[in-house]
Amino acid sequence: MNVSLRGSAAHTAGSPVATAARFVFQNLNKGSFLALHCAIVLALFVPVTWTAIGLCVACYYLRIFGIGAGYHRYFSHRSFKTSRVFQFVLAALGCSAIQKGPLWWAANHRHHHKHSDQEDDPHSPVRHGLWWSHIGWVLSTKNDDQVDPNEIRDFSRYWELRLLERFHWVPGVVLAGLCLWIGGWSGVVWGFVVSTILVYHATFLVNSVCHVLGRRRFETTDASRNNWWVALLTMGEGWHNNHHHYMSSVRQGFRWWEFDGTYYVLKLLSLPRIVWALRGVPRAKLAAC
Ligand SMILES: [Zn+2]
Ligand SMILES: [Zn+2]
Repeated sequence: MNVSLRGSAAHTAGSPVATAARFVFQNLNKGSFLALHCAIVLALFVPVTWTAIGLCVACYYLRIFGIGAGYHRYFSHRSFKTSRVFQFVLAALGCSAIQKGPLWWAANHRHHHKHSDQEDDPHSPVRHGLWWSHIGWVLSTKNDDQVDPNEIRDFSRYWELRLLERFHWVPGVVLAGLCLWIGGWSGVVWGFVVSTILVYHATFLVNSVCHVLGRRRFETTDASRNNWWVALLTMGEGWHNNHHHYMSSVRQGFRWWEFDGTYYVLKLLSLPRIVWALRGVPRAKLAAC
């Protein structure tokens, strides 16, 4: 199914057989997501070592960067340029957060901007409620749809990205293996399981809370808001009203005091030209502040 047809399909009912089949598929498909949430109780049974805590922090920030810089600012909005190799690195980093592949993620996110807080928005708290926008849409069967390559033709033309999309779970498994190697079972539980859950909910806060709580600097056509504490948790993704106002900018904190860690790292990476052509905010757009 084409992702652009997704819209309000989650709210429609089918025949009992189709509904049952969909339920079974949904639960199989969402198994890893739910299992990871259940596995968090294992944290009570493994020793909390400094290595495990270090892995938890490192894996959290590495993957928050992979989602924010890679899936969001690069694949969804093309707000900077990079080499084909580093493009793949960003895609693999994003995959390690177990939020599906870069093509699926970016196509969904482009859909969000196209229909922000309208009926077809896949995760609008204004239209479908806070619970739906935070986690309900992730658990919905409609979001298991394969991405139509035409929705994201600019990136689906790369064979290595299509391959990674198909095996998007591999980088996550590799990361879990690395955590086991470095920190034993404590490393897996804290470095992989706990930090993956934290990355999930930090990312989801942008979809839910950042369309409900916070300040609106710009009168955008949606309900997006700037939320400082979500920005702190997500290395800058919480400046969501800024972002909806001018989505092409690599920088989401428009003022010096708006912490945007993802932007600072990208700026550093631009020095040795690992990334380049970072898109700024036109003066006219800033003037509305
Ligand atoms: Zn939004
Ligand atoms: Zn965006």
